[in-house]
Amino acid sequence: MAAESPVQDGVTSLTLPVLGMSCAACQLHVEQALKSAPGVTSAQVDLMRHRAHLSFDPSRINPDGIVQVIRDSGYDAVLPREGAGAAQDAPEEGRQGLKAALTLATGAVVMLLAMPVSMAEDAPMGAADHALMQLLPWLYNLPHMPLRWVLLVLTVAIAAWAGRPIYASAMRALGHGETNMNTLVGLGTAVALVSSAAETVAPWLNQPVYFDSVLLILGFLLLGKWLEGRARHSALAAIDTLAHLLPATARVRREIAGRPGEFAEVVVPLDEVHPGDLVMVLPGERFPVDAAIEQGRTTVDESMLTGESLPQERGVGDAVLAGSLNYDGAVAVRARSIGADTTLAQIARLVEAAQGSRAPMQRLADRASAIFVPVVLGLALVTFVVWLAVTHDAARAIASTVAVLVIACPCAMGLAVPAALTVAVGRAAQLGVLIKGGEALERLAGITALAMDKTGTLTQGKPELVSSTTLGGWPETSLLRMAAAVEDHSAHPLAHAVVAHAHGAGLRWAAATDVQVVPGRGLTGTVEGHECLLGNLELFADQFVPIPEAAEIAPPAAGVTRLWMTLDGKLAGYFDARDTLRARAAAFVAWLKDAGLSVTMLTGDSASAAGPIAAAAGVTDVAAGLLPADKVARIRAMQADGKRVAMVGDGINDAAALAQADAGLAMGAGAALAQEAGDALLLTDDLAGVVNAIALARATTRVMRQNLLWAAGYNVIGIPLAAGVLLPAFHLSLTPWMAAAAMAFSSVSVLGNSLRLRRWRSPI
Ligand code: ADP
Ligand code: MG
Repeated sequence: MAAESPVQDGVTSLTLPVLGMSCAACQLHVEQALKSAPGVTSAQVDLMRHRAHLSFDPSRINPDGIVQVIRDSGYDAVLPREGAGAAQDAPEEGRQGLKAALTLATGAVVMLLAMPVSMAEDAPMGAADHALMQLLPWLYNLPHMPLRWVLLVLTVAIAAWAGRPIYASAMRALGHGETNMNTLVGLGTAVALVSSAAETVAPWLNQPVYFDSVLLILGFLLLGKWLEGRARHSALAAIDTLAHLLPATARVRREIAGRPGEFAEVVVPLDEVHPGDLVMVLPGERFPVDAAIEQGRTTVDESMLTGESLPQERGVGDAVLAGSLNYDGAVAVRARSIGADTTLAQIARLVEAAQGSRAPMQRLADRASAIFVPVVLGLALVTFVVWLAVTHDAARAIASTVAVLVIACPCAMGLAVPAALTVAVGRAAQLGVLIKGGEALERLAGITALAMDKTGTLTQGKPELVSSTTLGGWPETSLLRMAAAVEDHSAHPLAHAVVAHAHGAGLRWAAATDVQVVPGRGLTGTVEGHECLLGNLELFADQFVPIPEAAEIAPPAAGVTRLWMTLDGKLAGYFDARDTLRARAAAFVAWLKDAGLSVTMLTGDSASAAGPIAAAAGVTDVAAGLLPADKVARIRAMQADGKRVAMVGDGINDAAALAQADAGLAMGAGAALAQEAGDALLLTDDLAGVVNAIALARATTRVMRQNLLWAAGYNVIGIPLAAGVLLPAFHLSLTPWMAAAAMAFSSVSVLGNSLRLRRWRSPI
């Protein structure tokens, strides 16, 4: 995937990693800075992937200028290396665990060493001090002043090493008169450090000593970030496994240079395979490209791509997908699409874009985060002033102020929604459901009614001709041949039925001319010199070609779709086709009803064909004989009734209805993923996808709400507690390092809650 690609005249798009972001406030900050930079036309920052996507006018700003804009806002960015993906991790992340551990360990040692030192001369000894004195009496015999100097040097050294990115970011932002998340922690630890240093240098000032707190705060912060990084990686894992499905090389049959007509199998790197190449794939290997089988047969496992868990039989002419597993046959396949054009790559792109999108629920968190830092700075100031005025105790005032600065992190707030969204979209993809983004997901979760197409949705969409009847003296083979010649121009499932049947009868035909497809009706054309109309009764009514009601014409059997055919305006015969209900269709419909949804079938087929199928599936509300535009009108009417409607249909035929619905689910996508309409694409040819999409969307919005509530509640309770509001009455407050631990815990717990969705199981 190229990081930089021209989009259109004068606009270039760029994706680059952003370093040093810890929360939604950071994300908004970088995004704002980028958006207001001259020449940048759009910018979106992905907090889960720590990346910025932007488009810009290269005549007004260059990538280096963009990096500078990000640096000026207090963060850092690296330009992706040529040819490398933008996905490399921030180099700082790997060492964060070690840094956190060392800082926390030093903090603990310092705490221990400082215990006798920090004890005020006249203060009564606590139980902890007594215990410590028993255990490590030598600690109390250490000379106080030199020890303080040792602690000071140790703390400053470790803080400078571990906290450098934090201080650097805070300073850079300060240089531009701005504040960010790092300002809070930077200021908090700086206050503690300065106070402790002052006491060391000038003991008569009687300042409190907080060496341990400084290190523990930084340590917990780093620990939180490290855990967060790991959790973010797990959240993204679903899509990363997709990328690893491709083999690095392919065995291609190539003409031997200098010996025309002679071929040999050569192993080439994947990017040297071209469409049209003949590729050999052995049992147990994964297909390197999207291809069609040319020789051999096999069973393939597409579960990683489509969620379809059963192995699929594939023979000559059948399509196979890059990344799917070739089970048991050695096959030669002709490459169709390679690299970025494969279904696998398209899925990966769709999932990535969806994970990086903003869910509407995020807006609240964004708004809160934007004002968060200044508000907390204000609260910290108030805390300091009030404590100092009331108690005249600088130690008390500083402790509470530092605790407020440290506990108040909008990290959890910022991750609440994106973490859940990312995990859910990844999990959905594993189940063969591609959800298009946060908005789509929330719409899916909020639906109250479900409208579905019949052909291909409730039925398998592979109707078969069960009989053909000629009238007016045409031989059956001529009739079928002419019908096939016309239907050859249509991609409708019924057209496939006619063509397949004619092929099966060994017929051949010359292409029909002037073919016009009438959506929801049928088609017209010229074949062998005759005007031919083929379709349902409405087609003939529209075209003013009467269909006589003859006594010898039996009505179609229940559940059968009848295609009428006229030649030169005279009835020539009809074909009856039958589609089969999908396995478990009734179970899916039952689940949907249990989930409180009203289920409606909207079909272009006749009532006599649709009724029995609907009844078998348990759908009681059926509207038949609808044109695509009528389906749109039906959905509008349902919406006018106050229902929020999801439409399930095939993405091409029902695109308008999918777009009108509050949430559109396109079934059996696969061929042209990128162009498909709808909020979710179902890769499996199965209603299970519909159930999964809705159930997972509901579960996800639940998790999002829990996360937001938790993050908000944490701050609402944590900040006053840190400020020492409960101290006078209940002797309950948070020391600065406890505040840091709480903060780390809050963002990690939001991620942990979201990661539960990785193990989400289909309810059916
Ligand atoms: P559905 O809502 O079941 O997907 P469509 O809107 O695709 O149905 O088609 C409605 C009806 O129009 C079909 O049942 C059939 O009678 C007629 N029809 C559509 N396309 C064709 C075709 N290519 N050949 C014959 N009949 C067709
Ligand atoms: Mg249809």
